[in-house]
Amino acid sequence: MTEKTEKMVGKMGPDPDFPGKTSANTGAKKEKSGSVPVFSDPLQTLKQVFGFETFLPGQEKVISAVLDGRSALAIFPTGQGKSLCYQLPALHLPGLTLVVSPLMALMKDQVDFLVSKGVSAARLDSSLSLDEINAIYEQLHQNTLKLLYVAPERFANERFVGLVSRLQLSVMVIDEAHCISEWGHNFRPDYLKLAELTATFDVPAVLALTATATPKVAADIRQSFSIAEQDAVQTGFYRPNLRLLFAPAKDPDQALLQHIDANQPGPTIVYVTLQKTAQQVADLLAQAGHQARAYHAGLKNELRREVQDWFMASDTAIVVATIAFGMGIDKSNIRYVYHYNLPKSLENYAQEIGRAGRDGNPSTCLVLGSAADLLILENFVYGDTPENFGVRAFVDFIMERDEYFDCAVYELGNRFDMRPLVVKTLLTYLELEGVIKSTGPFYAAYKFKPLKPSAEMLARFDADRQAFLRSLFSCAVKKKVWFTIDLDEAVEKTGSPRKRIITALDYMEQSGDLVLEVTGARLGFRRVALDTFDPEIVKENKEKLKEKLVARFGHREQSDLSRLQLVLDLVNHEGCKTRFLLNYFGEDLESDCGHCSFCLNGKNEVVCRRASGPDMMDDALVVDLRQLCMDHPKALATSRQQARFLCGLSSPRLIRAKLLRHPLYGRTEKTGFAEIMAWAEKNI
Ligand SMILES: [Zn+2]
Repeated sequence: MTEKTEKMVGKMGPDPDFPGKTSANTGAKKEKSGSVPVFSDPLQTLKQVFGFETFLPGQEKVISAVLDGRSALAIFPTGQGKSLCYQLPALHLPGLTLVVSPLMALMKDQVDFLVSKGVSAARLDSSLSLDEINAIYEQLHQNTLKLLYVAPERFANERFVGLVSRLQLSVMVIDEAHCISEWGHNFRPDYLKLAELTATFDVPAVLALTATATPKVAADIRQSFSIAEQDAVQTGFYRPNLRLLFAPAKDPDQALLQHIDANQPGPTIVYVTLQKTAQQVADLLAQAGHQARAYHAGLKNELRREVQDWFMASDTAIVVATIAFGMGIDKSNIRYVYHYNLPKSLENYAQEIGRAGRDGNPSTCLVLGSAADLLILENFVYGDTPENFGVRAFVDFIMERDEYFDCAVYELGNRFDMRPLVVKTLLTYLELEGVIKSTGPFYAAYKFKPLKPSAEMLARFDADRQAFLRSLFSCAVKKKVWFTIDLDEAVEKTGSPRKRIITALDYMEQSGDLVLEVTGARLGFRRVALDTFDPEIVKENKEKLKEKLVARFGHREQSDLSRLQLVLDLVNHEGCKTRFLLNYFGEDLESDCGHCSFCLNGKNEVVCRRASGPDMMDDALVVDLRQLCMDHPKALATSRQQARFLCGLSSPRLIRAKLLRHPLYGRTEKTGFAEIMAWAEKNI
């Protein structure tokens, strides 16, 4: 082992980012739980509570800013101890540390870890029962909780926002803070609102955390949370033990098999773009005698957990996964990370290869490039851009609602043929424009599964209550085993208030009469702007608003496409690949890395070239598609919709029209979206 790698091992040993998982095998000193001392010296706390002897690079600087009540930004690669930057100060500060994180599984691990150390910590999420939620609220009122983890969606709830504004907050932590940047790789509409909201809370310090941020995204985060430049701390991304290789792949199956066969077995992740590819490639590898399994968001939770456990326990396992894999795992000896398909962005690539070789030992990361991948990724981008007329109609629709209104994302998606994320983004844009204001999400219906015959349930109630329950049950609509009760309808039919109905259903669930679940999530809003008495001004404002939103989506499309171009730039780069990548993240290596495919071969091979597939757009297609458009005027009205259909990109209306199994669906998926759209505009 070289001196350099030895140093890495020392640096990367204990992994405070996933303390629950790793503290058992890091050799870190364990403290007696339940005996948290009085905290005055951070280093003392580090040793006594967290069991580490020294801080990792960057931690001390961030911690001292937070303890001084200054907002800070920490850009540390995954596994370099971001969580400690707030967990430790939380024990020294008087008020609550509120952690906003989109990663539910990580939240649970962290809370379990903190509680095992005797720290008062909790998480608020939708899996908790009403009693558990009330217990947390009680602790908040008494100011006995040190850390509370919540998902960003929680802030759409006015009651929760009201509660937070009354609490004594010491720090607000924004995990995965890059999600705030619209020009970042993982924009989440909820995060845009979060920055505005945070400014309204009386909180001394905001701590923004991320593993990947370009200088532009970092600047966006700093501006959003008013973080001074000197309080932004970035530790290096450079991992000298990773060999970054790139190879063109006419036949990626063959290329992957060759590489796997030619190398020593070791824990391996193969990243793919599509769920169906994950299964295909896993089967391919298994047939060739490797221990390979697929992992993607389409699998049941139980199975995913099983695959994870299997991977964690093995030294030869290969997981073929979509990007969903790796969030909750920390395996230090992953030897190979293959990209069977091109990564979506350089940020994704950096995060995915960052899972290799955390133990500091040499590890290989190989990207196989093919032109078909590029088309698929580009088509995803196009598929997520809504129609201009759709955006315009959406604005009109919202402006025509009552002052207080509610809607469901899937309903709007069907009405305007937009995917759920696009609907949520549009609603967020309207909120940011001050046109609507969230009044919070709620459930419009309850569903239950009876565990006893209704006569038996009713028997123990008096005549009055029996009559009420009978009329309540008469509102229930049966679907196989579950019954659904629409709350508005039940209020009307039974003449009882909403609260009595919910209390009755809750009571019966507690008595073991039935299993109860909420359903029909709806978002409540209030319309606030554009109301003046002058209809001309309203019209003019509305027009401006529509143009602004359309332009915003156009800008996003361009920005997503240029992000893909950067991936292409890296794989084809005529020079040290490692340097190119680090440069993108604002870091400069003083010399070439010496161990990437350029440095090893002394030259570059063009890995991925933009190419058009065979031209499938012939006269027969024109005839067939015109007929289909007449049969489905709503699903195939515009050239963008037609292009989506031909490229095999799903949309709510295509699903409703049952067109995903049509032989023409995905017919021209080997041709670029923009080209097909132009063709459709001319010919259909
Ligand atoms: Zn190099």
